Amino acid sequence: MKPSILSIEKWRIVSVIFVILVGGLLTDAWLISIAFSLFGYIVWMYYKTYQFYTWVINGTGQNNVPDSDGIWDKINYQVLQDKNKSSSRKKRMNALLKRSQSILKGFPYAAIVLNQNNEVDWSNSKSVLLNIVKNDRGQCINNLIRSPKLYKLLNANEDGSEIEIESPKDSSIQLLLKIITIGANSKLLIARDITQRNKTLEMRKSFISNASHELRTPLTVISGYLEMIKEDKNLPKSLSTPIDTAYEQTKRMQNIIEDLLTLSRLESTDDIQDISTSINMEKVINHVCQDLNQVVTVEINTDEVIVGVETEVISLCANLIQNAIFYTPKGTKIIVRWYANGGNKLCLDIQDFGKGIPNKHLAHLTQRFYRADKGRSKEQGGTGLGLAIVSHIAQRHNAVLTIDSKVGSGSTFKVCFLVNN
Ligand code: ADP
Repeated sequence: MKPSILSIEKWRIVSVIFVILVGGLLTDAWLISIAFSLFGYIVWMYYKTYQFYTWVINGTGQNNVPDSDGIWDKINYQVLQDKNKSSSRKKRMNALLKRSQSILKGFPYAAIVLNQNNEVDWSNSKSVLLNIVKNDRGQCINNLIRSPKLYKLLNANEDGSEIEIESPKDSSIQLLLKIITIGANSKLLIARDITQRNKTLEMRKSFISNASHELRTPLTVISGYLEMIKEDKNLPKSLSTPIDTAYEQTKRMQNIIEDLLTLSRLESTDDIQDISTSINMEKVINHVCQDLNQVVTVEINTDEVIVGVETEVISLCANLIQNAIFYTPKGTKIIVRWYANGGNKLCLDIQDFGKGIPNKHLAHLTQRFYRADKGRSKEQGGTGLGLAIVSHIAQRHNAVLTIDSKVGSGSTFKVCFLVNN
């Protein structure tokens, strides 16, 4: 409990009363005695206030604390305590700031701290990749790097969003830029040189594409001959099974090659805007379903169209519907639904009531050659590339593929296209 001012100042109050009493008794002039005593007390208080004021404006130093007692001693002590606390907090903050700056200095990527107006507050030496040097502090980043993509990224205010741009210093360098929000008013812009990574990816893509092209012709020849031998009436019975198996395997390889070439094509044409047309999904779904040897329930709840590449959307739809048929027992109910979801989404659901997919596989299904049910996939002639193709087509059409599945209940593959009204 805090002591009251009366208890802290009791001796001074007693002294003032004592002086009043003595003065009053000796002179019998009580009013004058009271006035003199109070005047003395006020002068003393004024002097102490002045001392305190001088001490405060001189920086509240530890060595020149005004000599005092009572309430003034308490005030001086409290001021010193607060000062010590705030200076140790300041020291801690400075140490923390220095430590964070030295971490960012040693960071292998360009790191730039921006304030709420997107002006450069601090940058490390690697920021030269973005043509930003120490002298650029205080300048708006959009004036230093003229990039509509960066402008969009900064205004989107989405933590962790990334873009790829060419280095403003050297256009042969590709950079991956990422925004991280720090506190309410600052952002950290990180730029990583991904030139080598992109080159490796390009090499991998072109290797797969070239290898697939090279294998395509010999495989067509082999499968043609095998088909001819297979049909030959004079083929000895003992060779019939090996030839059939060889023919089946060649067909599988041909399917894999075709799917790999499809993926390469999807990867090499980044922008689909020039080849886009309006697509009527009802027509696409009916077209895919007419060639199936199983009945599927089609529910069309919207006649809104999407914009995209029709052959790709047909392939997306066919892959998902064929999977629903392949991976469920014959006769299982399959529903294909096309509907508007919220104000700006059009969704395609392929729902089956098969045995479902265990949860641990769901996140990996769109990876190339990933199979949840290896036996069934091979038995059905699956390539393990169907969902990779679907996911790629979805991405190119600004759509999101989500997979929902429950063991024992079935699976729903949902593709939601974003429509700009
Ligand atoms: P695949 O050529 O093997 O069918 P996909 O990429 O199309 O390759 O599918 C990957 C894996 O996802 C399949 O091997 C299968 O295990 C699983 N899968 C896909 N669709 C379904 C489905 N409707 N029901 C259960 N499993 C599925």
